[in-house]
Amino acid sequence: MIHRLTVSELTNRLARRECSAAEILQASLDQIARVDGDVRAFLSLDAADARAQAEAADRDLAAGVTHAEKPLLGIPVALKDLLAHRGQPLNCSSKILGHYRSPYDATVVERMKAAGAVVFGRLNMDEFAMGSSTETSAFQRTLNPWDLTRIPGGSSGGCAASVAASMVPVTVGSDTGGSIRQPAALCGVVGVKPTYGRVSRYGLTAFASSLDQIGPFARTVQDAARVTGVLAGQDRRDSTSVPLPVPDYVAALERSAGESRPLAGLRIGLAKEYMIGGLDPEVDAAMQASVRQFVALGAEVVEVSLPHSDYAAATYYIIAPAEASANLARFDGVRYGARVDGRDPAEMNARTRGAGFGAEVKRRIILGTYVLSSGYYDAYYLRAQKVRTLIRQDFLKAFETVDAILTPTTPTAAFRVGEKSDDPLQMYLSDIFTISCNLAGICGISVPCGFTRATAETPRLPLGLQLLGKPFGEETMFRMAHAYEQSTGWHLEVSPLG
Ligand code: GLN
Repeated sequence: MIHRLTVSELTNRLARRECSAAEILQASLDQIARVDGDVRAFLSLDAADARAQAEAADRDLAAGVTHAEKPLLGIPVALKDLLAHRGQPLNCSSKILGHYRSPYDATVVERMKAAGAVVFGRLNMDEFAMGSSTETSAFQRTLNPWDLTRIPGGSSGGCAASVAASMVPVTVGSDTGGSIRQPAALCGVVGVKPTYGRVSRYGLTAFASSLDQIGPFARTVQDAARVTGVLAGQDRRDSTSVPLPVPDYVAALERSAGESRPLAGLRIGLAKEYMIGGLDPEVDAAMQASVRQFVALGAEVVEVSLPHSDYAAATYYIIAPAEASANLARFDGVRYGARVDGRDPAEMNARTRGAGFGAEVKRRIILGTYVLSSGYYDAYYLRAQKVRTLIRQDFLKAFETVDAILTPTTPTAAFRVGEKSDDPLQMYLSDIFTISCNLAGICGISVPCGFTRATAETPRLPLGLQLLGKPFGEETMFRMAHAYEQSTGWHLEVSPLG
């Protein structure tokens, strides 16, 4: 079952010539054909272009190119529909882009191609990455492979669902307030939000530029670490990308391999503000079990305080819409995609945006222009920026005493289709544990940590834990997540469609 293999298993087989890149791609396309009619993760895919890339990878392999030189050689990778992939459609799951195709590759796509990856496919998402369930897509509903009556999370729901259903071993998405970690948790896969500035955003359609970061989904921490290493690094086309060397993240995992207490000497913080009553009992039980597991692995678990946590969601829902309202001004009927004509440019512009954007995007634009408007700017936007600084300082202070902070990734397991789509506030609370990480600019990872109990009506559903790491502390974060994963084996569970 080639389609179920991880990146490291696939690269081993490729290196031993036990299979070809073309066969790996075919297994992936076959699995997509078999299950994506139900899951509906892919908006489109260009099989001919993918086959050409796989053949090129096979030529490289035949010429003796190794995975040390090209770490993703022959590995299929699919993209969230907001990353520019030259010649391919780019819609951000919105109608407003019409038949737009990218004229260039995003830096991350360039890097993955240079690393030998077979990059193909456009994955469904919430429109312009605004949402937590992938239900705001203008095109289709993606369903959770563990239970097709439930959402896969969002906004990168297509990325998470396609990995959970073994359609591709790796996908790449973006995380502004949780959009990688939350769907990863709800679909039982690994998702990484790197530190702000670690990965170039060039070619990522901007939602909230000071919060957005690109990152991978994979089945294992090791695979996610390998892909992060390919994505990361400074890029002169994104001035917020940081000129720090990229560590060998996979080597960092191997350092403590085989040790009985691989996390000895590391400290994990539990934020007392997160241990609020009313946490879902199954989420709570999974957290307590994971705390015990981290202790068994040698880590010391201590309490920390993040005193401004209560303000994170409110702060995020001022800053993110403010930036979105500015970023989305470019969709004006002139520069890109769709247009609805009018008597004059202003009417054309209004009609285009009225018809092209969905309700959630409009809600964010209206909120954003409101908090930026004169008279309200000081009261909302400026204050939110000040609170954001306090939130970042809370984390930096906590990281003086701990190496990572452990939280549930989500307050509950995957909810039902339609359960929260009429209640934006309920939907916003899905990201309560993930949002602060973006506000603070630190890194975070979600790792499978168990399941809910199956009942007569509902099969068991995956749960995820989140580790938050220091700025540019991905190495330690990966090490901890990997040790946990290897000792529990939750990542080995495959969804019914996988
Ligand atoms: N769910 C959050 C929002 O709707 C976060 C989305 C994201 O990370 N892109 O804004």
